[in-house]
Amino acid sequence: MILKTLNILIIDDDDVDRMAVKRALSLTQIPLNITEESLGTMGINRLKTDQKPYDCVFLDYCLPDLDGLALIRELRQSSIHIPLVVLTGQGDEQVAVEMMKAGASDYLTKTKISPDTLSKILRNVIRIYQAEQEVKWANNQLKENNKLLIRKNQELKSQRQQIELQNLQLQETSRLKSQFLATMSHELRTPLNAIMGFSQMLLSQYPDPLTIKQIDMVQRIYNNSQNLMNLLNEVLDFSKIEAGQMTLHPSNFDLIKLATLTVEELRSLAIEKNLVLKIQIDINERFIVSDQNCLRRVLINLLSNAIKFTHEGEICLNITEIPPSKIIIALKDTGIGIAPEHLSFIFEAFRQGDQTLTRKQTGTGLGLAITDALVKLLQGTITVESELGKGSTFTVQIPRYLGNYE
Ligand code: ADP
Repeated sequence: MILKTLNILIIDDDDVDRMAVKRALSLTQIPLNITEESLGTMGINRLKTDQKPYDCVFLDYCLPDLDGLALIRELRQSSIHIPLVVLTGQGDEQVAVEMMKAGASDYLTKTKISPDTLSKILRNVIRIYQAEQEVKWANNQLKENNKLLIRKNQELKSQRQQIELQNLQLQETSRLKSQFLATMSHELRTPLNAIMGFSQMLLSQYPDPLTIKQIDMVQRIYNNSQNLMNLLNEVLDFSKIEAGQMTLHPSNFDLIKLATLTVEELRSLAIEKNLVLKIQIDINERFIVSDQNCLRRVLINLLSNAIKFTHEGEICLNITEIPPSKIIIALKDTGIGIAPEHLSFIFEAFRQGDQTLTRKQTGTGLGLAITDALVKLLQGTITVESELGKGSTFTVQIPRYLGNYE
């Protein structure tokens, strides 16, 4: 439905024809504002410069200064897309087809001009024009959205590249850190070995005996060097694991023998603290396939932590199995326990339950991080249950047969 007053331009050099169109248009019941031009160039000029927007042009196909085809082409090339209705003579269908190809919206033979035909054509071309404008608008919107998407995509791409770059930098920093830790601990171990070797020589009291005071002092030098050596070894192991340089050497070995020997190795530490150290084993087949050294390190770390953090009571190493393929190693102590808020991070490197400088226990905070990494290498899992003041249980589950090695 057309409600607003339409601005119509009639371009025709023939006064009679112009009058006929004008009269027929005024009888269409459509509110119209009609402007007339008799020359093509004047019409083009008006369409290009007039302030008011025209809604439709009725155009004689044969003008004295410009033929209709050239006029249509000129308007369309100037991005004037308003509806153009060409008025042709009788039998000029071929001309009309050419005009339509050049961009005319419709055509009408002059003999058929009537209020009815003009109103129909007018409504039709305006409806099509409006639909075209809407499609154009939607298309522009799509183009804009597309541009926005392309821009966002580029932003995401450059962000991703930045993240990748940062990632590479982080990896490089981490590699340098591991390398530094490995080099430093390696370099420190050489003089430390000399200190330990010479203090052992002095402690052998050969060829010259030492006084009791001297023995005590040298013993302290030896013990402290030993502690320092243990710390350095932890740092070295950790940097090796982090750098992915820890390789497994699976073999078929006696688990009961390994567990018993490891417990005996640490028994003196438990005795020093008056702790009971028990071992309970309930498995059918004592031989397993795993990395013996790794498993020994796991046991030593867990046992020494249990002894370190237990001040009275007992520590029990319990080994069972879930046939056919799982071994469960649980280490239970009656020690100080771990606060619930610390449980989530004790397996992280350098994290300790007590991180104050005045803490009672020594340590690097690497033991459990190394243990966790070793257990993962052994394709197993480690979990902990603990209650403050009552004790902790660390449970390691590993496969009886490591990987495909059977
Ligand atoms: P470190 O023993 O060198 O501090 P670990 O990585 O071995 O580092 O242990 C991290 C922290 O976990 C310890 O500082 C301690 O707070 C807690 N922890 C580990 N084992 C026990 C245990 N058996 N009983 C109580 N707390 C423990």
